[in-house]
Parts: sequence; C-alpha cells; structure tokens
Amino acid sequence: MNVMSQPHETAQRIRRNWMAVNDEVRRAAAAAGRDPESVRVIGVSKYVDAATTEMLFDAGCSDLGESRPQVLWQKAEAIAPAVSADPNRRLRWHMIGHVQTNKLRRMLRFDPLIHSVDSERLLRAIDQEAGRQQRVAEVLLEVNISGDESKTGLSPEAVGRLLEISDLNAVRVVGLMAMAGWGTESAEAANQFRSVAELRDHLVESAGCALPELSMGMSGDFREAIAAGATMVRIGSALFKGVI
Ligand SMILES: *Cc1c(COP(=O)(O)O)cnc(C)c1O
Repeated sequence: MNVMSQPHETAQRIRRNWMAVNDEVRRAAAAAGRDPESVRVIGVSKYVDAATTEMLFDAGCSDLGESRPQVLWQKAEAIAPAVSADPNRRLRWHMIGHVQTNKLRRMLRFDPLIHSVDSERLLRAIDQEAGRQQRVAEVLLEVNISGDESKTGLSPEAVGRLLEISDLNAVRVVGLMAMAGWGTESAEAANQFRSVAELRDHLVESAGCALPELSMGMSGDFREAIAAGATMVRIGSALFKGVI
C-alpha cells in the first residue's frame, strides 16, 4: 500500500499533509467566524498500517479514527509504547465505523469515543459493558440526515427517542455524527450539515441534554461542515495524500 520507498519520506509527507490540513481547518473556522480551537481534526488512519499511523501521531495528531474495532485495538496496542514514551502527549481513539456488540469488551479498554451508535441495542450494550469495566463510555449518535437508504444512521426521530432513555448509567451521549449522502454536491452537503446542527439545537431544547459535539465533514467536505458548526472533522485521504 505504501508506494514510497523510504519510511523517512513517508513521515515527512505525512507531517506536511498534517500541517496543510490544520491550516485549512483553521482558515475554514476563521472564515465562519469561529474559534479555530473549537474544531478538532480526527485523523482517519484506516488506510494505512500501524507504523504509518504512528507517523501521523508523531506529526502531532492526537485523535485517531478507525472504522473497524479489531483494527482499532490492534493499532492502539502497537502505538501505546510511543504514546507513553512522551509525557506531554495523549492519544484519543475514535471508533467511526460499524460496531458489533461482541467487539465491545476489547475495544472499550481503550476508551474510544464511539461516533457510530445507530441503535438502541448498541447503546444498551455499550452501557452494560462500560459498566462492567467501571468506565463511562462517551458516544455520539449517528444520524442519517440525507435520507439515503444506503447510509447507516438513525432518523432524526429515532435520535430523539434514544436521548429519552433514562436508565443508562455508564454511557454518555455527547453529540451527533453525520455523513453527507454519496456524491453530494457541496451546496447540498452544506444544507445537510446545517440540518444536523439544527437537529442538535432542537434536541438540546426538547430533551434538555447537552450535545456539544458535532462530528461531520471528511476530506471532501470539511469546509462546509465547519461552516455549519462541526467540532470534529474526520479526515483520512487528505492526510495520506502521496502515501496511499
Ligand atoms: C473513511 C471515513 C472517513 C474519512 O474519509 P476521507 O474522505 O478519506 O477523509 C470519515 N468518516 C468515516 C465514517 C469514514 O469511514
């Protein structure tokens, strides 16, 4: 997968990509009249192996996202020594893909933020396993805002229903996650992201909960997402340009 011959060149390329993406994210935040510190870049490392993922951490990225639980825990184990070697750094893992409940036990040990909760069954399974491990798991509810049948995620009504469940003890819903529909033009993506932000505002009022995080925007549409209020953008291919 890595077409570059020298690990050193790969590391340099990733470092340059990381700085360029951060510049663009900060510029997009400033253009939207927002504090650049209010947008966090989640480096989506699903395209590369653990050694290359570690290069992104070394470049300064402290939030890594994976779409498969078993890859998340394998990489978390592989990179842990580099993380603990630097007392000034912490690493947060983000689970951005489909989660099977039988993967929760191993995955929750790494305290990931789970962006992709798309059913009551999964929410309750996370609550149960986090309780067993004496943790509080932070999650986002994934909303299908495009109405695209091929997309995963909850309808806006279903999100509201999950927020009303009152017997959860070890799981904390901290926001919403969304993806624009496939092949969406940027104006339409901007509309969809604005609807997610409006849904959040509505839920905060009606359910009386705090939902500070909005995870939306990828390499192709993070500017629109930031303009609409994203606090987390999930960026993969732009960070590994020239590497994958
Ligand atoms: C792969 C993936 C991303 C990153 O997409 P890029 O276009 O490579 O930036 C973001 N979010 C989810 C859920 C993904 O699966």
